[in-house]
Amino acid sequence: MQTQPTASHYIDGAYADDSEGAAFDSLYPYTGAPIATLHDATPAIIDAAIAAAARTQMEWAALPGVERGRVLRRAADILRAQNRELSELETYDTGKPLQETLVADAASGADALEYFGGIASSIGGEHVQLGDDFFYTRREPLGVCVGIGAWNYPIQIACWKAAPALACGNAMVFKPSERTPLSALKLAEILTEAGAPPGLFNVVQGRGSVGAALIEDPRVAKVSLTGSVPTGRKVYASAAEGMRHVTMELGGKSPILIFDDADLEAAVGGAINGNFYSSGQICSNGTRVFVQTDMKEPFLDRLTERLGGVVMGDPMDEATNFGPMTTGRQMQIVLDYIETAQAEGARLVTGGKRADRDGWFIEPTVFADVTDDMTIAREEIFGPVMSVLSFKTEEEAIARANDTAFGLSAGVFTRDLARGHRIAGTLQAGTCWINTYNLTPVEMPFGGVKMSGLGRENSREAIAHWSQVKSVYVGAGTVEAPF
Ligand code: NDP
Repeated sequence: MQTQPTASHYIDGAYADDSEGAAFDSLYPYTGAPIATLHDATPAIIDAAIAAAARTQMEWAALPGVERGRVLRRAADILRAQNRELSELETYDTGKPLQETLVADAASGADALEYFGGIASSIGGEHVQLGDDFFYTRREPLGVCVGIGAWNYPIQIACWKAAPALACGNAMVFKPSERTPLSALKLAEILTEAGAPPGLFNVVQGRGSVGAALIEDPRVAKVSLTGSVPTGRKVYASAAEGMRHVTMELGGKSPILIFDDADLEAAVGGAINGNFYSSGQICSNGTRVFVQTDMKEPFLDRLTERLGGVVMGDPMDEATNFGPMTTGRQMQIVLDYIETAQAEGARLVTGGKRADRDGWFIEPTVFADVTDDMTIAREEIFGPVMSVLSFKTEEEAIARANDTAFGLSAGVFTRDLARGHRIAGTLQAGTCWINTYNLTPVEMPFGGVKMSGLGRENSREAIAHWSQVKSVYVGAGTVEAPF
């Protein structure tokens, strides 16, 4: 498959490049071999992308919502028609098994385009009568918006940001992670093919400094970042200088609470999905698995048994269900956490090392007897490492689950539904799953509380974050004045 794009960037409806920008390679995590060479965006490229977006945005916003929506829905259809090629590209860029990318990446992006395409025509305000006077509100676009993506779900992140942004009448400049730069360019091509005007969705490549330069530009009205908490702090601070809107989709250290009465298979399945899908490189993962005392041994036994079903290997082979880490650097970070866990006294149940094969693979790793103060129970690892902790009472579990600076997600497994809802009401998280884990349909708001972020993606909630309200007051009588 051709993985080298026509050029590094996509600006004003066409590929663009500037070889003055420092070159960088995108590597295939299964072999470590380069699959594409691109250039960092130079100031000229950044300027061209923002200028194109600014020029197009007002014309786009003036279109009836139904016409904007049609472009997004056509793009959704093209994404679906090209799902296999896009999934293969995503697998080359991220190393995630094709078995996953075929169902979770471009497909989820297409859902976002279809969903926001569908509601573009019904975005509006309200009318309130005040005697003979009245006011109405208009929901207006913000203008030029910047999207900055992480490397774990590149095309999904690009679509989750672009779809609601464009539906609301904004234009976008998107910077993918420099480690996974390829699929956002395909999205730009697809939007053009679907009828998006030149300049509506632009892609510029580069490291963090490119993202930082985008946010500082006075023509930019909003930045939506998916990334780590430390990057979020910097991006938020920079956006504050210009009073820009922000959405922050950041990291987590989410808890899963498994009670003695839980359905064991469901709980083990949820914990597997919430720790090992995408080799653990998922922000909402439930990496602190709190298991009630009587359930602990059955849980660990069944978990270990089911981990025997891991098929590690060539990500392009659809039988493979566990891929390498996306970068060699991330693999090293995770291995360091595993070493720290052992030094701090966590009990290794399974895994715990780099797999004895080529590629940046780490064995699915489970630690038991983890305590709340251990590093692996406090910091986001972003790799296939599950920490199992035990608890006695509901009150204790809730207090310990909430004792973290993060607040992205949480899960509870119990057959007592009253307890499930009660706990969902007290866990400090943007999303709480009862008897399942990590499902993120486009219809449901997604985002974090506490250090895990601000704003919401997906669902009607996202509209509030990609638009602003204008109030229009209409006087129907004479104007009374003091003099
Ligand atoms: P980073 O925070 O390292 O990077 C995120 C993006 O920000 C990248 O495109 C990066 O560029 C860019 N960036 C880095 N520094 C700056 C800066 N100063 N100004 C502007 N942009 C900058 O995150 P990772 O890519 O390592 O992704 C992993 C993190 O993302 C985890 O913490 C994970 O939890 C979180 N995440 C959150 C999700 C959510 O929805 N809540 C979903 C997925 C991941 P470059 O990579 O080129 O340096």
